[in-house]
Amino acid sequence: MDLSSYRRIVVLTGAGISHAAGLPTYRGPGGLWTDDNLAVLSDASALTSRRAEVVALFWSFRRAIASVAPTAAHRALAAFEERLAPGAELLIVTQNIDSLHQLAGSRRVCEYHGSLAHWRCDGCGTELAPPDAEAPPVHCGEPMRPAVVLFGEMIPVAAERTTKHALRDCDLFVAIGTSGTVAPASSFVRWAELNGAPRVLLNLEIFDGARELFTECHAGPADELVPRFFA
Ligand SMILES: [Zn+2]
Repeated sequence: MDLSSYRRIVVLTGAGISHAAGLPTYRGPGGLWTDDNLAVLSDASALTSRRAEVVALFWSFRRAIASVAPTAAHRALAAFEERLAPGAELLIVTQNIDSLHQLAGSRRVCEYHGSLAHWRCDGCGTELAPPDAEAPPVHCGEPMRPAVVLFGEMIPVAAERTTKHALRDCDLFVAIGTSGTVAPASSFVRWAELNGAPRVLLNLEIFDGARELFTECHAGPADELVPRFFA
């Protein structure tokens, strides 16, 4: 696909683009991040019943992220943005909370599910970007929470608005490292379709139903597919 003719490109990224970065998952016996507590502690209701554990879990995840580097796929997207023709735009909408796109050098990134780089006080709404080495910051007498979207919480209004506007104007939509068939990808791809935009899926697996939503589907690791597609 010759990308030089597109002017309003929207890329959605999911967990598959960060996989090769080797983020620890904390799964397994004795791990902090077990299947059991991950489901419980990622739910917004845990902020009232088990707040200290929620904060500790996400803080440990944030510290783990500090030691990993962007993947070849992250870097390829950042390099592509650098080479865009005058007037052309690329917006990355990411479901990941690891900030690896920004670390790779991407400039227009919408963090749809928030970011572990930012922590928020539930008491007064203040948001901070605390330094890596310290413990979770305290504000209004309570540990701050990660400014990420937990299960049961709304997508931040600004992220929702930025994404919808971009999709309404887009002439190419590419989903990377996400199945493409569940929300939000499944609705993003339909909005792009309303514009008649080509819709491309780059993912490890192509699931049933994806070929009806996307005009092109490519199966493989993001680190192989993304540098080739955005070459
Ligand atoms: Zn506060």
